[in-house]
Amino acid sequence: MSTWLVNCRLIDGTGSRPKENVAIEVRGSRIGRIVSGNVFGKEVVAGPQDEVVDLDGKTVVPGLWDSHMHLTFFIDTRQDFARIPDLTLRGARRAMQFLAGGVTSCRVLGDESGVDFALRDLIAKGEFPGPRLFTSGEPVTTTGGHAHDSSGIECDGPYEVRWAVREQLKRGVDFIKIMMTGGIMGAHEGFGATQMTPDEVRAATEVAHYAGKHVAAHTGGAEGIEMAIKCGVDTVEHCYALDERVAGMLAESNTICVPTLVVTDSIHLYREAGAPEYALKKLELAKEYHRRGFQYLLKAGGKFAVGSDLPSARVKGIVATVREMEVMVELGADPMDVIMAATKVPAELCGLIDEVGTLEDGKLADLVVVDGCPVKDIRVLEHPVSVMKDGKWVKVTKDAESPDLGGW
Ligand SMILES: [Zn+2]
Repeated sequence: MSTWLVNCRLIDGTGSRPKENVAIEVRGSRIGRIVSGNVFGKEVVAGPQDEVVDLDGKTVVPGLWDSHMHLTFFIDTRQDFARIPDLTLRGARRAMQFLAGGVTSCRVLGDESGVDFALRDLIAKGEFPGPRLFTSGEPVTTTGGHAHDSSGIECDGPYEVRWAVREQLKRGVDFIKIMMTGGIMGAHEGFGATQMTPDEVRAATEVAHYAGKHVAAHTGGAEGIEMAIKCGVDTVEHCYALDERVAGMLAESNTICVPTLVVTDSIHLYREAGAPEYALKKLELAKEYHRRGFQYLLKAGGKFAVGSDLPSARVKGIVATVREMEVMVELGADPMDVIMAATKVPAELCGLIDEVGTLEDGKLADLVVVDGCPVKDIRVLEHPVSVMKDGKWVKVTKDAESPDLGGW
């Protein structure tokens, strides 16, 4: 028995123009066929056992990806890492909130408690609701470097970096994260100050690539971003102070930028959560550099992916991932490019493009139904009508803070 989603507009994530009046067959966890027109027409007939869902002209897009999130980053528990049960429960809730908002896959960029591994594996087994997770485990940092006081593993020199990367590989990470520069939440560092040396970065990329894993680098300043490109890093996260020259280098490289613009767009959220004054000041300072840097990247034609990085799944009443997409469009990005940056681009990065990321025959049925066309107005993604992951509906209530995940 199949479920046919009929009478919908399809944005398949490949970059093709939206297709009108499409019928999508969902068979088990996968897309069966995608056909034009009505399933009751001449060529395709839904079987007598099949369920037919009339979407009444709504749009279907691939399940979204958040390429930079944390399950256990909360401002109020930042100094209290002993409370693992709290972090576990709150991390699980955050995963559900992302899923209810239409995010069916996430790249987890650093959690110190092991919650990331537990949730990744339980969600994959179908024992727990949440997005498909890809985790870096604990980020590799330098002595006193970014996140040394939270999830980071401090190590110095290429020998220690190789050890730290191998430790994470041993734990079963999906990719490696390195802290190349300072950031917002560190008390004694500039957000653009370089912290790793090229030999350390090369050591990390070499060992990770041997193991078939990609490397994500936390990078704030242009100097660090340039070093990342030259040392073979696969993604540069944040890029708070990207300049025009390095934006051009990014565009000519294969390195993907995950700008997390919603961080400096959501200063109020950090203030309300009680972030320290120095962090708020740094956010204010970074905001204009951050936005301008992304515009340099757009002008140069660089590749980018959507990631949120907030200490919350939601901001301004919507899932942070969608707010990030809106900021990108506000800064001049093409909405179709932004949709691909939240679907196809990360699926390719994580080596899963044959399974998810686009809606095509035979792929896993991860999709979001929205009222209106996100290419015309990206904001229609704010309130998904329904979300499907692995062929199962995730029901969405009006108040997605307390998602009704019926069926799971
Ligand atoms: Zn982060």
